[in-house]
Amino acid sequence: MTVRVRFAPSPTGYLHIGGARTALYNYLFAKATGGTFVLRIEDTDLERSKSEYETLQIDDLKWLGIIHDEGPDKPGKYGPYRQSERQDIYMKYALELVNKDLAYYDFCTDEELEAMRENAGKDGASAHYEGKWKLPEFKAEGMARVAAGEKAAIRFRAPLKEYVLNDRVKGQVTYPKDMVGDFVIVRSNGLPVYNYCCVVDDMLMEITHVIRGEDHLNNTVRQLMIYEALNAKVPEFAHVSLLIGHDRQKLSKRHGATSVNLYRNEHYLPEAMCNYLCLLGWSHPEERDIFDKNDLFKLFSLDRFSAHAAMYDLEKLKWVNGEHLKKMSTTDLISLIEKEPETEFFRQQSAEWKNACVELLKKYASFVTDFPKLVNELILNENPEMTDPLKEIMSWETTPKILNFISSEVHKVQSDFVTEAELNAWMESVKKDMAIKGKPLFMGVRAALTGHDHGPDLKFLIPLTPVNVLKKRVQQLSK
Ligand code: GLU
Repeated sequence: MTVRVRFAPSPTGYLHIGGARTALYNYLFAKATGGTFVLRIEDTDLERSKSEYETLQIDDLKWLGIIHDEGPDKPGKYGPYRQSERQDIYMKYALELVNKDLAYYDFCTDEELEAMRENAGKDGASAHYEGKWKLPEFKAEGMARVAAGEKAAIRFRAPLKEYVLNDRVKGQVTYPKDMVGDFVIVRSNGLPVYNYCCVVDDMLMEITHVIRGEDHLNNTVRQLMIYEALNAKVPEFAHVSLLIGHDRQKLSKRHGATSVNLYRNEHYLPEAMCNYLCLLGWSHPEERDIFDKNDLFKLFSLDRFSAHAAMYDLEKLKWVNGEHLKKMSTTDLISLIEKEPETEFFRQQSAEWKNACVELLKKYASFVTDFPKLVNELILNENPEMTDPLKEIMSWETTPKILNFISSEVHKVQSDFVTEAELNAWMESVKKDMAIKGKPLFMGVRAALTGHDHGPDLKFLIPLTPVNVLKKRVQQLSK
């Protein structure tokens, strides 16, 4: 069997974190099995669907590197891939269901339906649709009225029996008999509904596995009924666990950014996003936390999903982003940094300086945007802030002596930067000529040259710091 999976977003908003995770799982499963990943746009809600959202969602998927094989922009033999362009197909199958008596025309008005709903379950009344149009004796009238041009909804006749689903994540799910009553598959305005279109499409697109959010588990019973009525093979289902926030409630905007584009704007790395999204409800066979999605092409399987809700943790995502940043090559990082605003100083430096700078600072960075901040703070800052720890170091009797010496040395330097050898020579002089050793030596020199009580290794940091900045710092500290 050749695997065919699909991601079926509704273009009613930006690509949601949960949607991106579903898309990723489908994509990885297709890659792992040599199958095909289809993008289907479920735009039957004409009022809420907007083509710009379709474009934006596809763009976000591309940014994440989740690339579909077939879709509205990549037509294949199973198209069209937008539900709004498949109306004739839905009508054809709906009429077949009516002809086979598996569905019927329903002329009930909204008021009648409302009254039925209010009455549902009371005084022995059925909890479900009990309109007269479900009765066989009204079939001929229904057919005739529609033939005469009257509008009617098409309602599916829900079989009165138990359904069992063997879900790849949730295990065996039993839908009790009488759980759902007859339901509309085509509205009286001619628009088919999600549960119906989804099955027709999955059937015709030969979808073999449906991997989607757990929130669709309740829809599945209606879909199983339609598969049965259409005599179609039921795909395998994997309903992946819900995403929740720290309060254990379903992830929503209340918990912060939930759309992919916001993370994109915040400069998260697409590889890190995929890595983190993948971990929300799935685990690596070697229990690894950090991986590239391309590494999963051989490893991804439906057996490693967790049935428990997955907690969305922004701090962990940030950490994953930092780990991916550290894994990037220095060359790639440099080109990303140079695309950032306010990196003129960085861009003007030599290749050697840039390499050394990125190598030194990357362990402090979680985001590309951290680099310009770190350069400003650790390399270009001319005005040391008199923090309490700095005051403390300055109060030692050895520090003013060191500052005095370093200040005169720094002012002698003619070049733009000092070398590591020059720095070592200063340290040696303090040690030998002033007999200052250990902590007073290291902390004193650090304070004098950086204005900080801690930070990156001086032998790497100082050769990256412009001498004119060092001069300003020692001046400030000497005041
Ligand atoms: N359009 C549905 C959604 O966005 C797709 C559900 C499915 O995958 O069947 O939730």
